Amino acid sequence: MEREASVRMKWRDNMVRISLDGIVGKCPHCKSSNTDYVFVEHDDGRGYLSVWCVSCGQQAHIDCCSIPRNRKSISFKDALNLDEERVVALA
Ligand SMILES: [Zn+2]
Repeated sequence: MEREASVRMKWRDNMVRISLDGIVGKCPHCKSSNTDYVFVEHDDGRGYLSVWCVSCGQQAHIDCCSIPRNRKSISFKDALNLDEERVVALA
C-alpha cells in the first residue's frame, strides 16, 4: 500500500489548483477527469481538503489548510453526519 505522504504528493498540483481556481483537474493515477473535492471546515475557518477520483477511487487529504471563499465546503459537524442525500447535494 502506498504511503499517505507519497499519495498526497501525486495530488499536490490538483490541491494547489483547487485552492487557486476551484478546479480539480485530472487524476494523477488514471488521468480521468472524473474527479471531485470538498473542504471540511472546523469552527475556526480552517479545515482539511479531501480530493478523489470517481473513476479509480484514489484519494488524498491534507489537514490544517485555510479554506478559500467560493469553494465546496461542509462543516465538520455535518461531515460526521454525512449521509447519501448530502453527498448528492454537494455534487
Ligand atoms: Zn483515477
